[in-house]
Amino acid sequence: MTTKGRRTQAVHGGTQRSQWGEMSEAIFLTQGFAYDSAEQAEARFIQAGPDEYIYARYGNPTVAMFEKRIALLEGAEDAFATASGMAAVNGALVSMLRAGDRVVAARALFGSCLYILEEILPRFGVEVVFVDGADLAQWEAALAPGAKAVFFESMANPTLELVDIEGVAKLAHAAGALVVVDNVFSTPVYSKAIAQGADAVVYSATKHIDGQGRALGGVILGTREFIRKTVEPYMKHTGGSMSPFTAWIMLKGLETLELRVRAQTASAGAIAEAVSGHGKVTLVSYPGLDSHPQRALAQRQLGGAGGTVVSFEIDGGKEAAFRFCNALEIVLISNNLGDAKTIATHPATTTHQRLTPEQRAGLGISDGLIRLSVGIEATEDLVADILQALDAV
Ligand SMILES: *Cc1c(COP(=O)(O)O)cnc(C)c1O
Repeated sequence: MTTKGRRTQAVHGGTQRSQWGEMSEAIFLTQGFAYDSAEQAEARFIQAGPDEYIYARYGNPTVAMFEKRIALLEGAEDAFATASGMAAVNGALVSMLRAGDRVVAARALFGSCLYILEEILPRFGVEVVFVDGADLAQWEAALAPGAKAVFFESMANPTLELVDIEGVAKLAHAAGALVVVDNVFSTPVYSKAIAQGADAVVYSATKHIDGQGRALGGVILGTREFIRKTVEPYMKHTGGSMSPFTAWIMLKGLETLELRVRAQTASAGAIAEAVSGHGKVTLVSYPGLDSHPQRALAQRQLGGAGGTVVSFEIDGGKEAAFRFCNALEIVLISNNLGDAKTIATHPATTTHQRLTPEQRAGLGISDGLIRLSVGIEATEDLVADILQALDAV
């Protein structure tokens, strides 16, 4: 399958049909598997071959189809599917780390990722050093004394600041560190993270891969050696595996992923342009805009795509931001992203509420900041709704 186009792989990659020849991928909603004989059970416990299953926490045919398909799309050797995006982040890091190791991480992180790095890892003797992800000099200085791993979001939430995967990977590899990239905002459609030097890529499949707000899921991608020797033993014994039903939802999500994400990105670009000219908007952050300070990096890293999220600052702080949200008629107020439905989030009072005002200021999260996850509705309806809500501010 590797020589086929991405959209062909998205529909056919990894499919294994049962004896019934079903068109749509089968959901093997089973936790266990019956053996033909006691000898077969014994042999499978000694060494399970490909397509030989023992227990759904270890592996399941529907989950394996999802893992094969997403690995093909990402250009990774292998993948392990997880119960959520956080199970993927935790699994990728904890499976490889031990007491005494050092991790260098970007400071701008999804709240739960920050919790793992700031609260959990240090409890077990792992030192974590935070840097400004966009500043290669800080990465270089922090990596100089050696590190086991680096972790960052390639496009930070909610400011959409990019981290240079290739640049950080060069520094990390020179220091002997593995590069783990949380690539949710870049999406599997625009990601070339493995080719750019990432050793492991993690996704919250809850976002664009499902893309229709139904299920939590995640995936860790990397070399076969890393996935099967490091990640799998940790995940299968600690219980963060993906359920077969979720894997089926995610498999169907992958079929339409590229169509949805390209439509969402086109609308996000139109919205970024439209709000840029509005008198109530003081700042627009969208890597697809020519005015974006990291436009050259976006060209190199994402083929010029700006992604499906637009962040912008409304003049007048929290009060103005709330007036904007409450005036929206089509766009919904929520905190998911990557969904078919367009979602407005006020990060300062929701996703980033836990941070101190100083921490928020340091990350560029002002009280007037709105994060817009753009869906697949008609572009002109979205632009009109957002402009009327801005006028209502
Ligand atoms: C949502 C998200 C996660 C966590 O994923 P869940 O599926 O909610 O566990 C991790 N990182 C980023 C960047 C996210 O957006």
